[in-house]
Amino acid sequence: MKILPPEVIVIRPPVEAYSLLIAVTGGCSWNSQTGGCKFCGTYKGIYGGIQPYAIRPLEDVLQNIDKYGKLHYDGFPVFLAGGNPTSLPTEHLATIIKYIRERIKNVPRVSCYARGLDILRKSDEELKILSEAGLDIVYMGLESGSDIILRMMRKGINSKGFIKAGKKVMKSGIKLSLYVILGLGGYKYTEEHAIETARVLTEINPTIFRFRTLNVLPNTELYKEVQEGKFKILKPVDALKEEYKVVDNLGPNVTSAFRNDHISNYCDVESENIKEDREVVLKILDSFINDPRIKNMEPKNLIYM
Ligand code: SF4
Repeated sequence: MKILPPEVIVIRPPVEAYSLLIAVTGGCSWNSQTGGCKFCGTYKGIYGGIQPYAIRPLEDVLQNIDKYGKLHYDGFPVFLAGGNPTSLPTEHLATIIKYIRERIKNVPRVSCYARGLDILRKSDEELKILSEAGLDIVYMGLESGSDIILRMMRKGINSKGFIKAGKKVMKSGIKLSLYVILGLGGYKYTEEHAIETARVLTEINPTIFRFRTLNVLPNTELYKEVQEGKFKILKPVDALKEEYKVVDNLGPNVTSAFRNDHISNYCDVESENIKEDREVVLKILDSFINDPRIKNMEPKNLIYM
């Protein structure tokens, strides 16, 4: 299997499709340390090769930024690619962000993925340094608010840790986007998944949260469990019922925006403020749940995205 160096960009959020992508780390440190989350196949060969965790040399990153500056890119957001750029020492990451803002014109947004544990390792002052350098938003995989599911999927952090990390990010002035994976608890924990995820989202009140639907790729540990009948993938209608329950159980304080902006999802309802739009969102979800075409649909379980 081909080993991909850190400058090869394996994945980026859909919302960053038209951004400048600049690799700063490769792979994911959690993968390299432990084999990673059981449901995740991202750096394990499905997208052209295995990518071990590595830090891209600072000089290479700065040269990359210079290149975009010299090509007169103007007005493009920048996504700092790699599984967990917030694992970088704060000064290293801040140098990159400041250099982007110096060398590339009118950058409206600088963003990256962030692991909860990396955020917990940073002090409030360090997060403030990143915010002031110009890091606008981080995308964090919460996946579930249930401690049972987080442990079962070997996420490496519990709901208490996520709440602390999420609040730290919000306090620093960096915007927070959380991902939730519908169906991650299978049928056994669907109720627990919905209720506990709503609890954690309510505690954090992130800038935005985004639903994805579980796709079990053949190169994951979870795939074996599906093959052996130990884990059952939710039907689309049941994934939508889960989403309904999450939204329905959010506390009245939650003002987050939310999206279904992924190819794995079965509906595309979204809101800029779930507090204002909750009733209409629930009505739309209900109409999907009661649509006979959805009721009879089998999971699409995409193998490649
Ligand atoms: S889900 Fe994120 S933290 Fe977990 S193994 Fe995949 S990239 Fe790493």
